[in-house]
Amino acid sequence: MFDYLSGCPVDVRVIEAMVPYLKDGSNPSSVHSHGFKAKQVLEASRASVAALIEAEPNEIVFTSGATESNNLALLGYAMRNKEKGNHIITSAVEHMSVINPCKFLQKNGFEITYAPVGRFGVVDVSFIEKSIRKDTILISLQHANNEIGTIQPVEEVGKIAREHGIAFHIDATASLGKIAVNAEKLNADLITLSSNDIYGPRGVGALYIRKGVRVQPILLGGGQERGLRSGTENVAGIVGFGVAAELAKKEYPSEAQRLQKIRDKLIAEILKIEASYLNGHPEQRLPNNVNVRFSYIEGESVVLSLDAEGIQASTGSACSSKTLQPSHVLMALGLKHEEAHGSLLLTLGRYNRDEDVKKLLRVLPGAVARLRMISPLYRR
Ligand code: PMP
Repeated sequence: MFDYLSGCPVDVRVIEAMVPYLKDGSNPSSVHSHGFKAKQVLEASRASVAALIEAEPNEIVFTSGATESNNLALLGYAMRNKEKGNHIITSAVEHMSVINPCKFLQKNGFEITYAPVGRFGVVDVSFIEKSIRKDTILISLQHANNEIGTIQPVEEVGKIAREHGIAFHIDATASLGKIAVNAEKLNADLITLSSNDIYGPRGVGALYIRKGVRVQPILLGGGQERGLRSGTENVAGIVGFGVAAELAKKEYPSEAQRLQKIRDKLIAEILKIEASYLNGHPEQRLPNNVNVRFSYIEGESVVLSLDAEGIQASTGSACSSKTLQPSHVLMALGLKHEEAHGSLLLTLGRYNRDEDVKKLLRVLPGAVARLRMISPLYRR
């Protein structure tokens, strides 16, 4: 399996911890003892998630996932702080759950500046600095890109934001559990966290909101999560997220080293194929990300060829694969349409073993060669 980005499995240790709470159904808001117990496990999970990013438990608000956390960060911060200004800076390679809330804000009186990226996908920090105005209230930047794996200079951008008194939001969905995410060190005010990307259940996420930072809720109702996110808490899911966070904290340093070795072997071997190129940064890169492109053929055909051999891969973000448009991330690197369409994304994870890597490397060169033989663009 080389598609951890769109289909990260849930760790069995997480499932085992969740089962009693799936059956139980107690509501943390209930006054009786069952409710109190549910409240206790909710708070224990909050502490585990906070510990993963070295934050305080009361700085964590549980949500339904990264999309909601990004929406809460952007819409909630913008609405609550609009008297300070209406300008927001983000980058051209953000996930659509950042870009679309920005577009919504733009229709509602905010101005958005999209910082460009260089050919490896690293955001132009001097552009961000030059774009800061008196009315800039928020900078939103991903920690690492989910498609090309490029790690952004978030610490540097965070420092600039802090110096200017501007709030800084980091989407850490792709980086959490792969590299260190430390709220203080990154100078973050808001951080998007996702359970499923760290082997926890789907439908759970969190937003780190630094103490003192004001955000307006985007879901209104019973006032759970200190009024910031109404709705009866998904206790089983949150317990799973908490356990996944504990496992990630313990295991990610050695796991990252293991995956990085696999990543580097895959990149080195795949690039031996004629007219193949790496997308994203060669070093400043998530340990679990391989994104390559092959001239003359389509990544989608490569994915189907691999699937026929029982190997799962992808061409990019599964969230955008319903359109025929090439990935906005690959286009932002300055690639031509046909180059972007020739891309193959392999995301690695906890259950990849040497045998999978050997099989992939055995199958892939032949698949590319066969597709090129039938490609009208390829002339031998
Ligand atoms: N941000 C990033 C960087 C992502 O990769 C994703 C999807 N994996 C999201 C946000 C949205 O996550 P979800 O679809 O789980 O809400």
